[in-house]
Amino acid sequence: MNNIKITNCRIFTFNEENEIIDQGEIVIQGDSISYIGKVRDNHDAAARESCTRVIDAGGQVCLPGFINAHTHAPMTLFRGYADDLPLMTWLETKIWPAEERLKGEDVYWGTLLSCLEMIKSGTTTFNDMYFFMEDMAKAVTESGIRAVLSRGLIGLDENKAALGLEETEELIARWHQSAGGRIRVMFGPHAPYTCQPDYLEKIMKKADHYKLPLHIHLAETRFEVEQSLELYQMTPIEHMESLGLFEYPVVAAHCVHLSPNDIEILSRRNVAVAHNPGSNLKLASGVAPVPRLLEAGVTVSLGTDSAASNNNLDMLEEIRLAALIHKGVSLDPTVVPAYKALEMACREGAKSIFWEDEIGMLKPGYKGDLILMNLHKPHLCPLHDPAAHIVYAANSSDIETVIINGEIVMENREIKNMDEEKIMYHAQKQALALTGGIADEGAVD
Ligand SMILES: [Zn+2]
Repeated sequence: MNNIKITNCRIFTFNEENEIIDQGEIVIQGDSISYIGKVRDNHDAAARESCTRVIDAGGQVCLPGFINAHTHAPMTLFRGYADDLPLMTWLETKIWPAEERLKGEDVYWGTLLSCLEMIKSGTTTFNDMYFFMEDMAKAVTESGIRAVLSRGLIGLDENKAALGLEETEELIARWHQSAGGRIRVMFGPHAPYTCQPDYLEKIMKKADHYKLPLHIHLAETRFEVEQSLELYQMTPIEHMESLGLFEYPVVAAHCVHLSPNDIEILSRRNVAVAHNPGSNLKLASGVAPVPRLLEAGVTVSLGTDSAASNNNLDMLEEIRLAALIHKGVSLDPTVVPAYKALEMACREGAKSIFWEDEIGMLKPGYKGDLILMNLHKPHLCPLHDPAAHIVYAANSSDIETVIINGEIVMENREIKNMDEEKIMYHAQKQALALTGGIADEGAVD
């Protein structure tokens, strides 16, 4: 069994007391944390725990790994392929035609590329919705990352709708709780405008049967709200409430356009909101009313959405955007303070994917998912408040070591389980084939 001791670090536990431990020490036995507290001078303790590795963190900051609460990992293959377009033009003329050509192999390499990028920027868990889930699960397993996978469900075509549900059940049977417990499955109805009420009811029945949560896009654009009002005389949130969706655990991505009644429903029904500030800005969808959601007691986490609309999977960027954008929009510099923005990427992230009993905090019994960040850098000097530095001044390249499920997956920025060059080579090749060689072919030899 792998037993790792990390000493001499400043630990942001994000536990219920928001404890910060200076001169801290963490012991991970197997996949879970067995000790967290002050550095012990008693060397017997380490011997008793028979640590196979001791990492002297040299004063680095230790945080729970970031949780990317909403993304579509394989879409890294479309990074930078189509930008600065209106949402529907972007989808209809670029993304959907390219996705029509997608094969399992593309999803496999695209997911590996994402895992590489996420681990290098401190993400230890991601919540995804896509298709070719078998290939995605294989890539997740190999990379060492933790993930919640949903097969995206779209009800517009009857055969495809039925196939989506079948594939979700296969995904559950083969992959739920697999990879040493790193993979979980949810149901993924894409959105109210792609899943008509009778299809949503079928999905809810299945989710109830398997006792698994649901992951959906809600109230992303003003157009979606207008269309819903026209068709159902209800906002998308009111519509989902009327169908009974919120009687199940739901994580709703975006929630940009909300009425006061929508916020009341989300709060009363404990719907978790995955806020994607970068994607919402880039697609000009708007700015979600996060301060009002927080005031109403709604769980708000952070997501990157796909790299096609971001264009990266760097959670530090989302954390910074979340801390900045709401100040600018509300003209109130006190909203979404630095620590709160970090919390949204850690403990609140875990809550939003219904995994808060094992991840999102650093405490005994929790999974060994953590990152070490080096704040001893010119752009982070002088050091007054580490949380403020992490949110407002740090780069993801300041993250040096990443541990997931008790396994070191990156140490001193060196990736352990994946061959970076090989993954980039294949991702570039697959992406060129998908986009009709529009990308720079010279980049591949
Ligand atoms: Zn999305």
